[in-house]
Amino acid sequence: MQTIEKFNFAGKKAFVRVDFNVPLDENFNITDDNRIRAALPTLKKILADGGSPIIGSHLGRPKGVTEKYSLKHILSHVSELLGVNVQFANDCVGEEAIAKAAALKPGEALLLENLRFYAEEEGKPRGLAEDASEEEKKAAKKAVKESQKEFTKKLASLADCYVNDAFGTAHRAHASTALIAAYFDINNKMFGYLMEKEVLAVEKVMSEINRPFTAIMGGSKVSSKIEIIENLLGKVDNLIITGGMTFTFTKALGGHIGSSICEDDKLDLALELLAKAKANNVNMILACDAKIADKFSNDANTQLVDADQIPDGWQGLDIGPKTEAEYAEVIKKSKTILWNGPTGVFEFENFTHGSLAVGEAIVEATKNGAFSLVGGGDSVACVNKFGLANGVSYVSTGGGALLEAIEGKILPGIEAIRGY
Ligand code: AMP
Repeated sequence: MQTIEKFNFAGKKAFVRVDFNVPLDENFNITDDNRIRAALPTLKKILADGGSPIIGSHLGRPKGVTEKYSLKHILSHVSELLGVNVQFANDCVGEEAIAKAAALKPGEALLLENLRFYAEEEGKPRGLAEDASEEEKKAAKKAVKESQKEFTKKLASLADCYVNDAFGTAHRAHASTALIAAYFDINNKMFGYLMEKEVLAVEKVMSEINRPFTAIMGGSKVSSKIEIIENLLGKVDNLIITGGMTFTFTKALGGHIGSSICEDDKLDLALELLAKAKANNVNMILACDAKIADKFSNDANTQLVDADQIPDGWQGLDIGPKTEAEYAEVIKKSKTILWNGPTGVFEFENFTHGSLAVGEAIVEATKNGAFSLVGGGDSVACVNKFGLANGVSYVSTGGGALLEAIEGKILPGIEAIRGY
């Protein structure tokens, strides 16, 4: 497999798929540019070699050409960070893109307009009437898949080689994230530096496991994380179920959870997962106490109670101190740690303490030689908020992509480069 480090981009045009899907405020100012910064090593290497990056990205979820989602809003910032005057093509395919790409000189860069302005990028039909028949849906899907081939070919024809540095979209078989790779031979397609690091980090967690291996799964819903929990049950020694989803388990076990968040249709599933954990000798740890609130608000009245004794009208919004201590003890003894999802409603200042305690325990374990991977939007927001990002081994930029990789799925963006 080709690697970016070995590849010499001199005189070459490289189509680089990045994830510049950054948050913008109402005046189109970037409020967090981490995703752009994360792709800089790749882009800078191409420029330093004397190559010309043709940068493609999506921004938001447009359903067609939408001013709000134009990548021109980020152009000046990308130029500033890269230290070159990046050019812009108002369309990602078409005459302007072709002409500007062709005219690029070594050391020059071009940013293409939002790839998702075209339905072909995702390959999903748009504008279908709500009452469309199954046949109409099928026909529309077939039509967009057909035109997707043409679109992908046009994107590929802009460049001599292809670099995928967008781990955040690696779980999508989109035109620019996976399909385009078919137009380049094995020596002319590669991961960017960021993507390489992400793939390595996931592989390290999932294959080179130093034990004990502890996964901390938090967040609001069991339903969104069933597959990953099932997959982890075959791999981990300790599985901490925390955040809102712990209450579905507590209720399934006969506990009183008041008005805490719960998925009543997942009670049987929770019992099945508990049984599977037992059968696999996995130590599944639920919260033993909770910080409860009389309303879903930062300024609610609070109490600390046993997690299975929550009075009616009260809801658990964070773990309590006994649980914090129990989690910390397990985490600190671990050698491999995966954290996805907060222990409570960390967006409310008064309910961040549990997530902070988990973050601090992970940092301590990491100091003692553990490998720790933090991923998924909210846990990354947590480590950043608490200033702990430098104390963990790896903070992944991927949310859905990371979870799917850990579920054991082969990500199309990775497969397309590696060929397996
Ligand atoms: P997820 O997107 O599934 O990772 O869930 C993250 C969200 O779960 C965050 O917005 C948290 O506020 C929320 N959350 C965590 N714990 C609780 C809880 N006890 N009750 C309600 N929401 C929660």
